[in-house]
Amino acid sequence: MILVLDDGLDAEAVTRAEEAVRRAGGDPRRLTAEGGRLALEATGVARELLARIPGVAFTLDGSPAYRRVAKRADEGTHVVHVRGVAIGGPTLVLMAGPCAVEHEAQLEDSARAAVQAGARLLRGGAFKPRTSPYSFQGLGDLGLRLLRQAADRHDLAVVTEVLEPGAVGAVAEYADMLQIGSRNMQNSALLRAVGRQSRPVLLKRGMSATLEEWLLAAEYIADAGNENIVLCERGVRTFDTASRNLLDLAAVPLLRERTRLPIAVDPSHGVGVRSAILPMALAAVAAGADAIMVECHPDPGTARSDGFQALTPDELIHLGARLRAVAAVVGR
Ligand code: PEP
Ligand code: MN
Repeated sequence: MILVLDDGLDAEAVTRAEEAVRRAGGDPRRLTAEGGRLALEATGVARELLARIPGVAFTLDGSPAYRRVAKRADEGTHVVHVRGVAIGGPTLVLMAGPCAVEHEAQLEDSARAAVQAGARLLRGGAFKPRTSPYSFQGLGDLGLRLLRQAADRHDLAVVTEVLEPGAVGAVAEYADMLQIGSRNMQNSALLRAVGRQSRPVLLKRGMSATLEEWLLAAEYIADAGNENIVLCERGVRTFDTASRNLLDLAAVPLLRERTRLPIAVDPSHGVGVRSAILPMALAAVAAGADAIMVECHPDPGTARSDGFQALTPDELIHLGARLRAVAAVVGR
């Protein structure tokens, strides 16, 4: 909090203001405010106390624009419950499944592998936001029904993407958690629409979004009424073509300082190179992620989308075991 002092305050009055801040429990530091006026930076004191100190013209609240999702001094991570699975609590959560739902057998094999890997959420796309209009766009409503059935057979929760505001109701009928993909992170109409309903939201980072932009996107959802949001780091665009994206793991501790929302990491899209997904998933857990999302496919070579980055069932099960080992080391 910044206290801008009255114009032309004499030295004694400034000292008295500093003493008042100290008596209120704060630690004042002198600053020059915009326009050359003297100001005091005071940390650790309630705004109401500071505003009443003689000599204080007004206070500047340094709190961020994303006030609903900002970290709160008196609170830890906001735990998001997805059909009984707590994300942001003490236990690391794994979400896994195919990039796109293709057919029942593919989903059944994926769901079985997900369970064996220790996953609690089945993640699959029924509506796919593909870069090319000529690529497979997903099975649509049929994909939603297949997801629900496979998840119910294996006691998993469903997370799937919604692409447009008008489809939110229909997707929410089948899904336990709605995903907003990278390409839609700044689609404010869609953000508001998922904010007006009660299913938790998985908000992926835009491919060139700053943390501030991402948190403000989350703020749209929270401001519309839904604070059950999990942020998902999925890599950012960069110059290097060796990987699909640059997985920004520093985002995990940096977000933790800024927001109360739980944080997931998606190394599948974040790296896009199968051999690097396991090590980066482990690194994400070490960095403090609350959840990991990975793509798998029973036969990646035949996948209709993102097969190059899909883990086989055996690789997924191995990843699950390694995640648990690292999670134990970091106390999750
Ligand atoms: C996805 O998760 O299936 C996906 C398309 O990812 P992103 O939105 O991060 O590109
Ligand atoms: Mn994908």
